[in-house]
This record gives sequence, C-alpha cells and structure tokens, in this order.
Amino acid sequence: MIKTLHHYIGGQPVEGTSGRYGDVFNPATGQLRARVPLASANEVDSAIAVADQAFAGWRDTPPLHRARVLFRFKALLDKHLEELAELVSAEHGKVLNDARGSVIRGMEVVEFACGAPHLLKGGFSENVGTNVDSHSIRQPLGVCVGITPFNFPAMVPMWMFPLSIVCGNTFILKTSEKVPSTALRLAQLLSEAGLPDGVMNVVNGDREAVDALLTHPGVAAVSFVGSTPVAEYIYQTASSHGKRVQALGGAKNHMVVMPDADMDQAADALMGAAYGSAGERCMAISVAVAVGDQSADALVKRLVPRVENLKIGPGTDPEAEMGPLVTREHRARVIGYVDLGVEEGAELLVDGRNRTISGHEDGYFLGGCLFDRVLPDMRIYREEIFGPVLCIVRADDFETALKMVNDHELGNGTAIFTRDGETARTYASQVQVGMVGINVPIPVPMAFHSFGGWKRSLFGDIHVHGMEGIQFYTKLKTITTRWPEGSRSVADFHMPIMK
Ligand code: NAD
Repeated sequence: MIKTLHHYIGGQPVEGTSGRYGDVFNPATGQLRARVPLASANEVDSAIAVADQAFAGWRDTPPLHRARVLFRFKALLDKHLEELAELVSAEHGKVLNDARGSVIRGMEVVEFACGAPHLLKGGFSENVGTNVDSHSIRQPLGVCVGITPFNFPAMVPMWMFPLSIVCGNTFILKTSEKVPSTALRLAQLLSEAGLPDGVMNVVNGDREAVDALLTHPGVAAVSFVGSTPVAEYIYQTASSHGKRVQALGGAKNHMVVMPDADMDQAADALMGAAYGSAGERCMAISVAVAVGDQSADALVKRLVPRVENLKIGPGTDPEAEMGPLVTREHRARVIGYVDLGVEEGAELLVDGRNRTISGHEDGYFLGGCLFDRVLPDMRIYREEIFGPVLCIVRADDFETALKMVNDHELGNGTAIFTRDGETARTYASQVQVGMVGINVPIPVPMAFHSFGGWKRSLFGDIHVHGMEGIQFYTKLKTITTRWPEGSRSVADFHMPIMK
C-alpha cells in the first residue's frame, strides 16, 4: 500500500482535503513511494491563520528561550542524522554520504541561529542630544514563508526556518512536492524540541498553494530558492503584494582553469563539483573555462577516463559516487540537452546517455557526460542543465575568460584555479558573481556568512543566512528617548537638531 503523506500545521499532521495529490518516487528504483497532498488556497488560508495566531506569543518569547528550543532541536538533529540522510537520499537520489553532508550544512545554520540573543542585540547611543538617548532594535515581521527546491530537501529549508523562527516569526514551509518527507520530519522534530504549536508549519503543494501564499495579506515575507523563471515570478508577485522577498534562482557556475594551475587538483575538483549529486546542485560547476589549449588538453586527458568510470549507483551503495536524477522527466530533460549539444556542434567526449545500472534498470540513472569546444552562443552553455554534464569552453587568455563569466546572465558561484595571487585577486575583485572560490571549487559560504548569487541568480537584495538572514527576518526600529526633567518645554517648528 502506498503511503499518503500529510501537511503539518499547528504542531500536528493534517490530512489534505483538496483531493489533489502528487506522486513521490524513489529515483533509484523508479517505484512510487508515497502520495503527497497538494494544498488548495483554502488549506493555505487555514495554515496562515494558525501561524498568525501563534505569532503573538512567540514574538514575545525572549530570544534566549527561543534559542533554547533550537539547541534542543540541534540535539535531535544529531540523534536523527542518519534517518534524515536516508530520507533525503530515498526521495532525491543523492548518495548517502552526500545526503549526510547536506543535512550537516543545514544543521550549521541551526547552530548559528542558537546565537540569537547576541545576534538580535540592538545598538544604544547615550546623549545623541543633551539628555536624549537613542536605541535600535530588530523586531520580527510576522508570518514568513519558505518555498524550496527538490535538490536539498533538508539544507535549503534549514537556510530559512531556523533563523526566521529564532527571530520571533512564525513560518510556513512549502517544500518541493518531489521530496516532501524530510521537511515533515523536521517539523515534527521541532515540536519534539518544544517549539509551540503553529510556529512552524509545512504545507505541501504546487503552484496553487504557492500563489495563495504569495498573495495572502497575512504573509509578511517570502524566501524562495529554485529555478530562475520561478524565482522571478515569485519576486514580482510577492513584492507587488507588499511582501519582503528574497528569491534565489538558477546557476551556470564557471570554473576558470589557468595554465599555471595544478591540473591534477583542478581535474579532481571538477569531478566532484560537476558530477557530485548528479550535477543537481546550484553550486555545481557546469562550465570549465580552460585558458589556453594546453590547459584544455591537460584537463581533457585527466577528465575523460574519470568521467567514463564514474561509479554510479543507488544512494545506499557506499561505493557510489553519483546517484540517479530526481525524476524520469528531469532525466529526459537532461538527455534532451545532451542531444542538443551534439546538434549545436559541441564535441561530446563522454556520452552517458545509455548508461544503465544493473539491478536498477527502472531508476533514473544517467552516466556522466563531458563536452569539449562548447561555444558561448550555444544553448547548452547559456542555459542551466542541472545534470551530470560538464562543458569545457576554451578561452585564449584570462581577460576573455573573465568577460565570458561576466557576460553570462546567471551569477551564482564561480571558481578560479591558479597558483598566481595577482590573477586570483583580480578575478575575485572583477567577477560579477555572488560567491567565489579560489582553488575551491564549490565555495558555499558557511552558516555565519551569507549565501546568494548576483544577476539573474537572485531577485531581491538580501542573501540567506548569516547576518543577512537576521536582517531579512527582522525590521529595524529606532527609538529616541527624553525623560522630563522639569525644565521649561518649548514648541519647536524647525527640523529637530540635537543640542
Ligand atoms: P523549481 O523552480 O521548479 O521549484 C522550486 C519551488 O517552486 C518548488 O517548491 C515548486 O513546487 C515551486 N514551483 C515550481 N514551479 C512553480 C510555478 N510555476 N509557480 C509557483 N511555484 C512553482 O526548482 P526545482 O526544480 O525544484 O529546483 C532546481 C532549481 O533550483 C535549479 O534551477 C537550481 O539551480 C535552483 N537552486 C538554486 C539554489 C540557489 O541557492 N540559488 C539552491 C538550490 C537550487
């Protein structure tokens, strides 16, 4: 019997009532795992009402007490790490080690959020004028919403809700309908940690639920992570309905390999960054820009045998380096891009399209693919593929490579591999990309820094987690105070200046 999932509202599982369901598959076997209810606008309204009701009490709960809930949540995450990693792997397909790492990166945001009493401290100035003081405080916004993609079922929601709730907001998570189970389990663990009912809610759904969240007057802020077209839609719709919005979009991350780079190190880095998690990471490297033909040839020589011999298997296989893609449709889409690359005239050095995994013939597996001599006007260069496909582009010199990266419409992450400090420094300074690695292929900022891209990889101004996260989930208020001292008061009609 196929399990039917639920929403999680007001501290308990709530059955879906819309009559609409989505299918959740195990990508390694192609088997149906569960049905997920897709919420109607009415169900979303009820969840917002519950979150709104919980706000008053939670807002007034001292930050220290809020943080203590998160300390207990963190202890539960430690205890259930393996279970969570298995859930991530079972619905997304990524190998267990990778899934475990992604849960840990989310837990680091919880650790950061535990510092809320310090992070929410305001500023105080004594005597901004004679006997007048000013202080600034950061206050929560109200009901905040997170809408998250399929590729990080634990980590990306944890970029959002720990900070949002520790700042005193209540939260509604609309997780990806392809991978819903992990978020439901996280919400349950928060209740177990002592979070008051209604502070954290999970509503499953598709566009109908998203639209209801984006337009509801009871929602104060929306954090989104997903593809660029949807991010743009979310930003425009939610901000035109008066909400604060951060909408992180897709990526086409370039790694520039200079002729002086350690080519073995660069090739190793490319293998992990391009094919880890089957390329379904927004920080995956999907373009290697080899500066000079010699660099390109050196990379090709090292990469071809490695890509051909990638160990591919189900997430549960401890030997596997790469699992399946998330759905049958996504696999077909990625294969479509490989076909397109061949038509466009790129050189397909490794063709993974027909790779099958014995015993898992119905899984959504795809072998690693490697293109050489990709040109910037090809669609396989311009568009995000989000699969195990690496494109090598040859550039004559550093300036051409830098311009290429800057001309791309997406600007999430990038890396440069070189031994030369001056080149690295110039690249970091001039590149129009939000996150930069120097001899670091996947420069995902730690929880106490902030994550976000530039250009069409982020709509809105504020990045996620770190101090920008605190800023996003709070409003600044500045209070200026004078206490009566019995002196004669005077009505002033000019702009107040402090004396
Ligand atoms: P997606 O945009 O299809 O879906 C993201 C979320 O939006 C899901 O919850 C989905 O239900 C919802 N959604 C989808 N279509 C919608 C629509 N038309 N209207 C309203 N809501 C809609 O993304 P995905 O396929 O789940 O995830 C992969 C994408 O996410 C890739 O483009 C990847 O680069 C991006 N991503 C970006 C980051 C980042 O930090 N910039 C991180 C992870 C993933």
